[in-house]
Amino acid sequence: MGEFELIQRYFTRSSPGAIVGVGDDCAILQTAPGMQLAISTDMLVAGRHFSPDVDPHALGHKALAVNLSDLAACGARPLAFTLALALPSADAAWLDPFSAGLWELADAHGCELIGGDTTRGPLNLCITVFGEVPGDAAGPTHTHALLRSGARDGDDVYVSGTLGEAALGLQHLLGKLHLDALAAAACRARLERPTPRVALGLALRGIASACADVSDGLLGDLGHILERSAVGAQLEDAAVLACCPWTDRGIDAQLLRDCVLSGGDDYELVFTAAPAHAAAVAAAAHASGTPVRRIGCITARPGLRVVDNAGHAMTADGGGFDHFAQDDNLQPGTAA
Ligand code: ADP
Ligand code: MG
Repeated sequence: MGEFELIQRYFTRSSPGAIVGVGDDCAILQTAPGMQLAISTDMLVAGRHFSPDVDPHALGHKALAVNLSDLAACGARPLAFTLALALPSADAAWLDPFSAGLWELADAHGCELIGGDTTRGPLNLCITVFGEVPGDAAGPTHTHALLRSGARDGDDVYVSGTLGEAALGLQHLLGKLHLDALAAAACRARLERPTPRVALGLALRGIASACADVSDGLLGDLGHILERSAVGAQLEDAAVLACCPWTDRGIDAQLLRDCVLSGGDDYELVFTAAPAHAAAVAAAAHASGTPVRRIGCITARPGLRVVDNAGHAMTADGGGFDHFAQDDNLQPGTAA
């Protein structure tokens, strides 16, 4: 199978949303009036972000999911994506399930494959997604996208879904932790087939003051919001731990806390909203079918503090949460 046969067979489909899709030198997209393009790229490298023998169907899903998660974080509606692929060989037994996993998620979000590049080389996947967000007649620099820079003193901090499952799943796969069959299956599914929170991101437009997706761990990704917004945050330890459904499994308390606070690959949304918007946040969660939990608040005082029930600081700025920093073989975080 040659390069062009491979592209034709696995990666060419009609893309009615694009003016020109796969097959020309460039794809051409028409932006709708009043809309802006949101663009993001994520690369997945074999041996770095995933094991080369991972299930190709799951890999096809995840390669697109991590990109859709960035659109979700901006409150952007997915339109299209490009796929740059380096493959050691044109292996149908790998390409069939990989492309099936990719198309399933793409179809679920109406996100069209409009181009890419294919070359022989060590397995490497790079996807660029294009989404749309409303702009504003108020001026060329204004956007309705959710950004990292809008968190304000007194805002509540929320997280969607669950935290720590992907990291627990990875620890289990690496043999560093034993999970029972139920927990292992759930955590592995979260590691290999993350759910991009696109519907929640869209529902939070106009409600959340800042948003990011949790690709590299809660402390790190919330840290990006704090830095861009020039604020600090205080998180309630019990509320953060409650984001993990497996706290009753006898897992080492420090490992569990590391996974929940610093484990990567959750692809949940961490966001802030003014207390006056609490009911609107709950309505957005309900409308998008995505659970959301309040885990703390934004403070004028810089830094990120986790406090116990009595309000006493347990740790400052992620100090001590270096479990993954030392594990350089296969990092759970995949964000570029
Ligand atoms: P060029 O050399 O002009 O950049 P290519 O010959 O590499 O174009 O690709 C031919 C067409 O196939 C282009 O439209 C390109 O976007 C598309 N394409 C190449 N690889 C992929 C892929 N993995 N997935 C989707 N489209 C692809
Ligand atoms: Mg060309």
